Amino acid sequence: MESDFIHWLRERLPKHPRLLLGPGDDAAILSLGAQAECVVTVDMLMDRVDFHLHQCGPQSAGYKALAVNLSDLAAMAARPLAALVSVCLPRSDALEIAQALYEGLLPLADDFDLAIAGGDTGVWDGPLVIDVTAIGQTTDAGTLLRCGARPGDVILVTGQFGGSILGHHLQFHPRVQAALQLKADYDLHAGTDVSDGLSLDLSHIAEESGCGAAIAFDKIPISAAARRLAKGSSDGLTALDHALADGEDFELILAAPPEAARRILKDQPCEVPITQIGTFIKEPGLWRRAAGGQLVPLEPRGYRHG
Ligand SMILES: [Mg+2]
Repeated sequence: MESDFIHWLRERLPKHPRLLLGPGDDAAILSLGAQAECVVTVDMLMDRVDFHLHQCGPQSAGYKALAVNLSDLAAMAARPLAALVSVCLPRSDALEIAQALYEGLLPLADDFDLAIAGGDTGVWDGPLVIDVTAIGQTTDAGTLLRCGARPGDVILVTGQFGGSILGHHLQFHPRVQAALQLKADYDLHAGTDVSDGLSLDLSHIAEESGCGAAIAFDKIPISAAARRLAKGSSDGLTALDHALADGEDFELILAAPPEAARRILKDQPCEVPITQIGTFIKEPGLWRRAAGGQLVPLEPRGYRHG
C-alpha cells in the first residue's frame, strides 16, 4: 500500500515554495529563508509490527523510535536539532510505559545534542504506538539525496548487514557522525539509510537517480548475526540472503565518484568501516557482477510496506 500511496501523494501534493524536497526521500527539506534549510522526517512505530513490547520493553522501543528518525536525518547528511514525540499508550500501565519510553530515548537525544521539543500523548485500548518527528538542519556541505548517483560512481556502505532481528534493530547507532563527516570532507553524489533491506534500498537510489546498480556478492559485509541466523534455521536462506534482504541495518549506502571513493576507502575516516560493494551503471535495474565480470539481473528484496 505505502509505495502506491507515496506515488499518488507525490503527484497530488501541490508545489509549495517552502517545500524544497517533498515526500519520497528519507526526509523533506523546508526553506527557512536565505541562509538555512530545515530537514524534517517522521516515523511511526507500532507494537507487534516494529517491536514487540512484551519482549523488548518500553525503553528499547523508545530508543528505536528516536534512532530510526536520526538515521533518516543521517541519510540526508543533516545535523539533528529537535524532535517531537507522540505516543498512543495502552490503558494498562500507561504512565510507566510513557516514562520508560522517554528513559530509553533521552540518552540518545543527549548523544546527538537533540532537543525534545514536545509531543502529544493519548491513552487507548490498542497497543503502544510511538510517532517521532525529527527536525534537522542542512550544513554548508549540502544535503545527501537519493537522486544524485551517476554511472561510474562507486557504491559504498557503512558497517555490516543482515540478521538485525537478533537485536541490532533495537540497539543500532544512527550514522549521523559518519554522514556529516563524509559529506563535509568528500564528494558524495547520493545516499540513503538501509531500513528496508540493502538490495531494496540500493535499488531505490538507482531508480531515483535514473541509473542502475551492480554489486559483487563477495564484497557484501555480512554481519555475525546474519551468519547465526543462516546456521540456526532450516529455511534455506544463506547469510548473504539475510544481508541483502533483512533490513533495519540502519547503515548508509553512498554514491561517490571514483576518486572520492578511493580516498574514503584509504582514509577510513569514520567510527565504522566503509566498504565498496559495487558501482552504479548506465543500465537501469539491480545487477550482480559475477566473477567473470558479466552482469546478472538481481531481484531487489526486502521489507515492502503494506
Ligand atoms: Mg530512510
